[in-house]
Parts: sequence; C-alpha cells; structure tokens
Amino acid sequence: MRIRKAARVILIGAPGVGKGTQSERLLGRFPQLAHLSSGDLLRHNVKTRTPLGIKVESTIKNGGLVPDDLILRLIRNELSTRGWLTHNGRPPIMTLASAGLSSGADAESAADSDAGVAAFLSQQSTPSPTDSTSASSSATGLSSDPSASFLLDGFPRTAGQAAQLDAIVPINLVVSLKTPFSVILARIGGRWVHEPSGRVYNETFNAPKVPGRDDVTGEPLVRRADDSEAVYRARFEKFEETSAPLLDHYARQGVLWEVEGMSSDEITPKLMAEFERRFCTGAEKEDC
Ligand code: ATP
Ligand code: MG
Repeated sequence: MRIRKAARVILIGAPGVGKGTQSERLLGRFPQLAHLSSGDLLRHNVKTRTPLGIKVESTIKNGGLVPDDLILRLIRNELSTRGWLTHNGRPPIMTLASAGLSSGADAESAADSDAGVAAFLSQQSTPSPTDSTSASSSATGLSSDPSASFLLDGFPRTAGQAAQLDAIVPINLVVSLKTPFSVILARIGGRWVHEPSGRVYNETFNAPKVPGRDDVTGEPLVRRADDSEAVYRARFEKFEETSAPLLDHYARQGVLWEVEGMSSDEITPKLMAEFERRFCTGAEKEDC
C-alpha cells in the first residue's frame, strides 16, 4: 500500500506493549516506511562493543534511561545517515552500523571518557561546516518525499527528548499504545527476539514456526537481558514517570492519537485504519 504523504510517526507505549510488533506489521503493509528503534540501536552498540555501547550497557541492564544527550546524538546521526534528513543539501555518507572504533581495547578506553564517546559519535555523522552535533542545527533540512517516511520506536522517551526532536524533524503522528500492565507483565516472560533484525516473537500469541528459531533466517532467538520481572518493573516505573509529560507535549501539538487493546492483534487493525486515513488518502482505494 502506497503512502501519499510523508509519514513521520512515533510509537509510544509501556515496555513490552508491542511497539516492535506493530512496527513490523506496519512495515509489512507500507513498504515505503522505514523503522528505527532506539532500543535495537543501543543493543547493537552494546553487542558490537562500541564506546557508546560500553558506556550505556549497565544502564540498560538495570532498566534505567540512557542520558538524553547521548541518545539524541545517536538518533540524529541515524536519521541523517538513513537520508531522512539532509545536511546543506548533501546526502549523508556513513551508516551507524558500518563504523565502530577499530579494536575492543580502543573502544573500552574511549568509553571511559565522555570525549571518547563524543568522538565515536561524531565519527559517524556527516561532517557539517557549521555544526555536527547540536540538535537544533539550522544546517539540517527535512526531506519531504513520501519515501522519507519513518517510524520511531522507543524515541523520544522524555519531554526533553521530544523538544529536541522538534528542532530536527516535525513529527506528524504520535501513536500511544495502551494495554493494561497486568496483561503486559504476564506476557513479557514469553518474549523472544531475533537480535540482528529486531523481530519479536511470543510463545503464547506470536510463536515462531520452529521453536527458538527466527522465521525468516532460521537463526537462533534469544531472551533480552532486561526482560526479567524485576528489571521489567523498573522499566515500567520509568515509563510511568516520563510518559505523561511526553504525551502532553504531543497532545499540545495536536498530533497525539491513542489506541487501546488487550493484545497486539486487537490493536493492529485500528492502527492500520488510522494510518491509511492519514497518509494514504487522496488515492484510489486499490492504489492505497
Ligand atoms: P519494548 O522494546 O518491550 O517496547 P522498552 O521500550 O523498555 O521495551 P527498548 O525501547 O528496547 O525497550 O529500550 C531498551 C532500553 O534502552 C531502555 O530500557 C533504556 O535503557 C534504553 N533506551 C531506549 N531508548 C531510549 C531513549 N529514548 N532514551 C533513553 N534510554 C533509552
Ligand atoms: Mg522495543
């Protein structure tokens, strides 16, 4: 189904509410849409032992939030490397996944200092004559092409992050996914992920075809290190604390849309319908 109007969408919801699942389904239906998950991006950095990954590893394990300045620069780099932003009309040149400090020892020592982490991040961004780090850089432009449509999952997480993102790219739909805490808690223990792609499965309602294996690649699935009940509770508390001001921020801009359901399957059709209404109208039904 074709998107007619650039979709710049954020999914907000408690940990485990199914942001990854809904993202995958939206991507399947709207091929122009690209997906960026801050959690997947951070876990990739942890796994590949980048200075940033080493620095944030324990925060993630304990269910805390990574500092705003780090996450913001990481996301901004990623948005521009994927071509969703432009710098002075020039396309960006490197992808986040493509680079890291060369050796593990370099990465460990760089992670010890803020300067080392900053150097790692700036290594990955497009050089800009004016400014390559400030979120509000006027050198950053916005691509209006519908193919520059994207879905952010897990970012922004706080009103502060949202305000910073406003300065980079205006979001035109914020989806708030709502499912009761008890329902999410009951299913978090059954979650399995395919780390390289971020695909998510659940033993009870979205089981892989072969237990323990990814449907697409056949590779092994793993449990997330932060999916234990104790850490989940800490993540949930953090979400409760930060989500109200975040949702208010977008409600004030008139872009917030809430959807409720006891399961991902209940939420998906509502989300699809709303997405089509907002981004695919003005086209023939079969085209859109
Ligand atoms: P789920 O993936 O189940 O919806 P979640 O939202 O808790 O749950 P992720 O989005 O994968 O999980 O994030 C995992 C961890 O990464 C968070 O607990 C936090 O430590 C860190 N993190 C991710 N995004 C951000 C962010 N925008 N700001 C700060 N920390 C973040
Ligand atoms: Mg997620």
